[in-house]
Amino acid sequence: QFPFGRRLPCDIYWHGVSFHDNNIFSGQVNKFPGMMETVRKITLSRAMRIMQDLFPLEYNFYPRSWILPEELPLFVAEVRMMKDNNPSWKPTFIVKPDGGCQGDGIYLIKDPSDIRLTGSIQSRPAVVQEYICKPLLVDKLKFDIRLYVLLKSLEPLEIYIAKDGLSRFCTEPYQEPTLKNLHQVFMHLTNYSLNIHSGNFIHSDSVNTGSKRTFSSILCRLSSRGADVKKLWSDIISLVIKTIIALTPELKVYYQSDIPAGKPGPTCFQILGFDILLMKNLKPVLLEVNANPSMRIEHEQELSPGVFENVPSRVDEEVKVAVIRDTLRLVDPQKKKKKDTQLLFLMITEESPWQGLGSELLPSVLLCCRCQSWEQAPGASEELPGAVPGPEAALPSLCLKQVFPKYARQFSYLRLVDRVAALFIRFLGVKGTTKLGPTGFRTFIRNCKLSNSNFSMAAVDILYIDITRRWNSMGIDHKESGMCLQAFVEAFFCLAQKKYKSRPLHEQVALLIELCECRLAALQGERLLWGCG
Ligand code: ADP
Repeated sequence: QFPFGRRLPCDIYWHGVSFHDNNIFSGQVNKFPGMMETVRKITLSRAMRIMQDLFPLEYNFYPRSWILPEELPLFVAEVRMMKDNNPSWKPTFIVKPDGGCQGDGIYLIKDPSDIRLTGSIQSRPAVVQEYICKPLLVDKLKFDIRLYVLLKSLEPLEIYIAKDGLSRFCTEPYQEPTLKNLHQVFMHLTNYSLNIHSGNFIHSDSVNTGSKRTFSSILCRLSSRGADVKKLWSDIISLVIKTIIALTPELKVYYQSDIPAGKPGPTCFQILGFDILLMKNLKPVLLEVNANPSMRIEHEQELSPGVFENVPSRVDEEVKVAVIRDTLRLVDPQKKKKKDTQLLFLMITEESPWQGLGSELLPSVLLCCRCQSWEQAPGASEELPGAVPGPEAALPSLCLKQVFPKYARQFSYLRLVDRVAALFIRFLGVKGTTKLGPTGFRTFIRNCKLSNSNFSMAAVDILYIDITRRWNSMGIDHKESGMCLQAFVEAFFCLAQKKYKSRPLHEQVALLIELCECRLAALQGERLLWGCG
């Protein structure tokens, strides 16, 4: 700990809450710039909405949500329309204040007119969301899952998921929501911080009983009942990858602003807490993403009225210690050196590319690699044939499993907004900003040759002003003026719809991205030629 500041550079920096140190020029930091803002309830809902517009089926794991107060009329109108279409639909909604946590300020409603408009909604924006009425129950109780996910790198995208997580239980038997039970938080909300105050909360020394259990214990139970837990895991992995794909565009904008490419700076990684609810039919639903999941491995116990003591919690210890330990193992700078040398080792053993090209050098290169890994990373040699086992050999196998790029091929078609964000970043101009000015937007249109007789530059300016003004009037961030990424995405979708009418939105957007990328590449080629000439 450096409570009074730090004098020497470190390999790994572990920050408590957010990325906040501007004096880091190397090493790795355990937080991404802008992560807290990106996973706030409203920002997450907006990012998911964009993906749901593009890929409705792929993103149906996130409940339908509306942002308050700005989308209150839309919420009222859509609910009325859905009720008219299906009179037997008796929905419940959950209202969650933006930036809230631990169940703070959350309440359930049966009708849009029940939203509490008394001042607070204006001063405290919120998300209203379809309430999942039929969750999977264990011992008649509702529970949710906290899974730990390591975002190891943004570019290239690398995601790991912890093999085990926590299941946090309600403390009163579940009943589907009725006007009478809507306010019963111990029945509807699974937050540990709320349920701990219920007289029914059970602290257990075992990982498969009590109000907090391991997720693996739930899986065992489901499996013994004949449930397809393999399919469940694969659905959860897909939910995590898709959610991170929805978050990366915004994260990249923050990243380039805080750590400009080409300047010395750290790389980042972050442990995220995914809160997931299982429906009765075992379909996982994303509730939220936590940028700072609690890593406490003890809980408070009231010994006598008002006298508390911290006691170790076996469940938390079992899950969380492994997550931290393996995160450190994965970001270990020695490991990186080992990986580089191993990569070389693998390339050499894969004979064909080397045939005929200095293949007589092979044995000495191989030897050199081995020596390097023995000397530089004592534990690194364990995976090399014939090598002496190092300290890593004493550790349990990794609990964090790579899911991306491992399954990248299945998901890469979803990464459209990432490419829109790359265009946005390209035209931001002065490094360090997160918003696009009118000149940047005009240059984007001009360089991509998107204006024509039907879409004049005057119309371009009007589009910019209209969308930017609307986004800034509802934005949380007033620090900078200009067009934010989400406003740019809206403008981009608008242009795509104009240009490629009567196709599905994701096709329109993909076509426009390709067109822009092509024209920019051609322009760059021309400039290079001119430079040479
Ligand atoms: P917070 O950050 O305040 O914990 P969450 O979004 O995690 O907010 O919601 C709190 C709890 O409310 C969740 O743990 C879950 O039990 C319940 N909950 C949240 N959203 C839904 C939903 N759409 N359907 C059913 N239950 C929900």
